[in-house]
Formats: sequence, structure tokens, C-alpha cells
Amino acid sequence: MRGSNYLEIKAMRSRLVAGNWKMHGSLAANRRLLDGLKLGLQATDGVQYSVCVPYPYLAQVEAELKGSDIAWGAQSVSEWPQGAYTGEVSGAMLRDFGCRHVLVGHSERRALYGETDKQVAAKFQAAQGAGLIPILCVGESLQERESAVTEIVVGRQLAAVLDSSGVGSLANAVIAYEPVWAIGTGRTATPQQAQAVHAFIRGVVARQDAKLAAGLTIVYGGSVKAANAKELFAMADIDGGLIGGAALVAEEFIAICAAAAKA
Ligand code: PEP
Repeated sequence: MRGSNYLEIKAMRSRLVAGNWKMHGSLAANRRLLDGLKLGLQATDGVQYSVCVPYPYLAQVEAELKGSDIAWGAQSVSEWPQGAYTGEVSGAMLRDFGCRHVLVGHSERRALYGETDKQVAAKFQAAQGAGLIPILCVGESLQERESAVTEIVVGRQLAAVLDSSGVGSLANAVIAYEPVWAIGTGRTATPQQAQAVHAFIRGVVARQDAKLAAGLTIVYGGSVKAANAKELFAMADIDGGLIGGAALVAEEFIAICAAAAKA
């Protein structure tokens, strides 16, 4: 399935395992989780760990993780730098709390809050403008997969960002392929299904910049657990994971990170 050439190119890419805590947590629960993560996660060459937490806990996470080998970030960002946008949080504000990453275009934001491709592209640009690394989430719904339009949907979501920010912007970004039907459902894409879409994404980027595409970190999200991480991360174009439910359990998240470190 993979020649040594693939392995060499893959080894050159940085891998990322990022936790998406969604709207979970409390000061006490976070402290226990972060204590566990700090004990279990140490720097590994070529692999980064990050947790994307609810806004109110950014100060806590910064205080707990500063000086550790774990980065942190948020789950969304405003497309605007400042102003009368009640309830919104800017990229500069996230930087004030030491954020490195921010999720952009998570399917829950697209589906529940009506974020459009255009808005997601604006948020991507705003995140980078503030010095954050956007983790751009793309993925198809079950209906779209069953209608065989996965590549059309993912291609359109990618094109929105490529058109507005240019291919060069992906040098400071991560792409997360998250099939909507696999998020929080316990139904994971098979490694082959995920690999096919990851290869498609890399191919779309390669048409504009082959070198950049070869080095682009593309992570998979959708019911990743310790039990299935190894086989997913072994695929040629899968460079780690975006982890929802399993990121709330220290031992699970640590085991997933260990699988990425060995991939
Ligand atoms: C997510 O929300 O990004 C996600 C992948 O969730 P889960 O791992 O719970 O499917």
C-alpha cells in the first residue's frame, strides 16, 4: 500500500493530535484532566499535542500548560478584529491567552450556527492575521457521502479558503478531515475511506503547490479512540487526529497521542 518513499515524506511532516473539548468542562474537571495530560504527554519529535477548550477556560489552561509540551487553543474565532460584535472573540484576544491553534469551520459551527464557506474563509484569514494556526475542518454529511459527492463538498470547502487566502496560507495551517457522519457517533471512517479523502485533499493542494502539499499536516477526526488510532495514523496521508469525546479522558487522549508518535 505504501512504498518507503511515502514513509520518508510522511516522516518529514509534523503530526498533530488536537483535542476538541467542545462545551464540556469545569474548573475542577479541567484541572484533573490537565494534570493527567501533563504527566502523560512529553515532547516527541515531529508530534505536537494541543487542546482546544471553551473560551472561559483559556486563562486556566494557559496557567496550567505554560512550560509544558502541550499547546492550547480555542474552538472558533471571529472574522472581525474588534468592534460591536456581541458574544464574539477575536484572534488577538486568543493570542492574549497564549493560544497557538484555533478550530475553524467545525461541522457543528457550520450545521448549528450556519457558518458558510465564505465566513469560514474569513475566520481562517482572521486567525492567521492574529498569528494563530487555524485547524480548518472540512467534511461531508452522511447524505453527501451516500450521494457520492464527498469530493465535491470537501473540494468546495477547501476552495473557499484557497481562493481567499491563497495556497501559501496553508504553510501555517492544519487541515482536519472530519466526516460529519463519524463525529460523536461512534462510527469511524475506515482507514481506507479516510485515506482516500486525505489523498484527495493533498492532491487538490498539490495542483497549486506540490512542495507545500507534501508538507501539509492533514489530521483525521471522527470517533477516534485509543483502539482505532493506530490503524488510522498508519495511513500515508493521515498526520494525526482531531479528537472530540476521547479528548476528555486523559488515558484515552494520551494513548491516541502515543499512537501518533509511533506512526
Ligand atoms: C470533533 O468534534 O471534532 C470530533 C472528532 O468528535 P468525536 O471524536 O467525538 O467524534
